[in-house]
Amino acid sequence: METNHGTDRSRPLRVLPGVGPARAAKLAAAGLAEVRDLLRVLPLRLDVAPAAVPVLEALRSARSGTVVRVAGAIERTSLARFGRRSIFRVRLRDASGTVEARFHNQPWLQRQLVAGQSVELCGALDGSPPGFTGPRVGTMDRPLPEPGTLTPVHPPLAGLSGDFVGGLCRAAALAEADAEPEPVPLGELDRLALPTLGRALRDLHAPSTALDFEAARRRFGLERMLELQARLHVRRLRAAEGRALACDVSEASQVRARTAFPFAFTAAQARVAGEIAADLARARPMRRLLQGDVGSGKTAIGAFAALLAAGSGGQVAFLAPTELLAEQHHMGLAPLLARAGLRAGFLSGSLTARARRGVLAALADGSLDVVFGTHALFSRDVVYRRLALAVVDEQHRFGVAQRGELFDKGVDAHALLMSATPIPRTLALAWYGDLDTSHLDEKPPGRGPVSTRWVRGDREEVESLLLERAAAVERLYWVVPRIGEGDGDTLAEVGSGKRAESAEERHARLLRSPLAEHGVELVHGRMPPAERARRLARFRAGEVRTLVATTVIEVGVDVPEATVLVVEGAERLGLAQLHQLRGRVGRGMRASYCLLIGADSARRRFQVLERTTDGFEIAEEDLRQRGMGDLGGSRQAGANSEGFDEWGDDLALFHVAQRLVAEHAEVRDHYAVGARRELTP
Ligand code: ADP
Ligand code: MG
Repeated sequence: METNHGTDRSRPLRVLPGVGPARAAKLAAAGLAEVRDLLRVLPLRLDVAPAAVPVLEALRSARSGTVVRVAGAIERTSLARFGRRSIFRVRLRDASGTVEARFHNQPWLQRQLVAGQSVELCGALDGSPPGFTGPRVGTMDRPLPEPGTLTPVHPPLAGLSGDFVGGLCRAAALAEADAEPEPVPLGELDRLALPTLGRALRDLHAPSTALDFEAARRRFGLERMLELQARLHVRRLRAAEGRALACDVSEASQVRARTAFPFAFTAAQARVAGEIAADLARARPMRRLLQGDVGSGKTAIGAFAALLAAGSGGQVAFLAPTELLAEQHHMGLAPLLARAGLRAGFLSGSLTARARRGVLAALADGSLDVVFGTHALFSRDVVYRRLALAVVDEQHRFGVAQRGELFDKGVDAHALLMSATPIPRTLALAWYGDLDTSHLDEKPPGRGPVSTRWVRGDREEVESLLLERAAAVERLYWVVPRIGEGDGDTLAEVGSGKRAESAEERHARLLRSPLAEHGVELVHGRMPPAERARRLARFRAGEVRTLVATTVIEVGVDVPEATVLVVEGAERLGLAQLHQLRGRVGRGMRASYCLLIGADSARRRFQVLERTTDGFEIAEEDLRQRGMGDLGGSRQAGANSEGFDEWGDDLALFHVAQRLVAEHAEVRDHYAVGARRELTP
């Protein structure tokens, strides 16, 4: 759709007031070159200017975080200087009482705010006694906005304040939003009671009413869903165009592959193996997601696919998100592959340059059939002679971008993505709408039960359970997440001295406990991989029975003798992550225990885990507690991604987008343009 604004559409940012060459350069570095680019810098929220309340009432709101506004006369002021720093204090009085406002490092305010002057203050109260810190100030000359005034709050960007960015966005919206082409048929928008994109962009940055702003948010949520749907569509087309190796999946080869394992497949494994074999037989590249709860036996399925593909003369890349897991797969599967006459290798960042060159050469000349490793398997310098299949274990640990990279580089290869995080159906559709799915809904027989308990006070009880299990030659994990690994308010905890002990400290402590008698070892992500592997091997073999670890062991580690998992600082981890960790135990026949030591703040999560071990139920609950998160992915990087994310929460919009893309070719094509550009390296 062309409009008569057409020529205006490429106005440089410098036409806006307040934007000189320096600011223009900063904004350009943040990806904003033209006025219309500002339209997509979305506000975090809408502020509504409050009406003034008596000071006494304002004081009561302290610590609730509510923004309040008071009006009165300045009783007195004072300025304290500490070298280059300063605090300027203002005491304001109204008929009901007094309140203090503190301003850091703004000594010049001393000249602007003087005793006897009438002012308004607006902000949240904190501290004790409660006061304002850096509130907005309204004076006779520069009053605060009228009560009810709407201000979209924008994120700071490229070193420019949110206020300034907001002003630019507002100007841009008033000048440009109307010219925004509308890809969605107007009849559809009408029916959905959603504004046009142009109207929505204007109302996001310069709304007349809060309702308009809300409607604009929803419209933009739809925008995001449409982009997502288009991306999935383009991926599907891409996959259909690719040509992969049509593998030999004759009955004889399948039987050979299945009997390579020391156990009989479960019914679920047999069914999924059949689905995969059918895919591999075709030249159209497989794009299959295998979902199976922790411990359901996904590795064997990945290996089964590898046996078929490599047995047909293709090469297989077997990816894991951590080196630890890649190593484990390599060690566990190489002998089995060797018995089938296939050569396996391992590629990791920690190989010596020489060893690495050797593996690369063997991949390039085709003498290696299967290679295990991390996403380094898809770095630029890795060349495959005839890549036929990529197996990606714990694929949810790879970012959306990495998944895209994989598909782009392996257009002509089959791909099997495996995930232990059960994904609610809607979410699966959203994320993985371009994939076929298989489910392992059954665990291998003979697994002991896992009981989960949130441990509050008594750690001695924990230690006696541990001692008893260690004495019985079982294995124990003691997990201590590192600061910054979880999602909690870790900084606040550091500040209040409640910081959980680091893994090192915990290790030292257990070495002084009776558990030391049975061996206590430490692994974390920052130690040399070879050393880590050695320690893990000693643990596996039972020479060492307690393993203190950071969450490096979260995914995939398979030691069937492990029966106790202690997670310390568990409040820092999300539901899905805790469930994954719990999957480290309950892999053998004996009863297992998962003990969560964590703060009250995560009570709800702990209770879910105590109640159920069903990964699907946990995933649903996770979705409910956290929202859809960064659904749709990596696109909106930058300062405003935070506020933007929650906009994707609306599942209803997701379904609308799905229908629009299916029913209107022009809608799909419009959004696919962006998706194609994005997918082309
Ligand atoms: P996950 O699905 O979590 O990746 P794994 O593939 O690590 O699970 O399998 C968990 C454990 O179950 C491993 O020790 C594996 O050898 C074993 N296992 C897998 N399939 C079977 C089966 N059909 N019968 C018995 N044990 C099995
Ligand atoms: Mg696994």
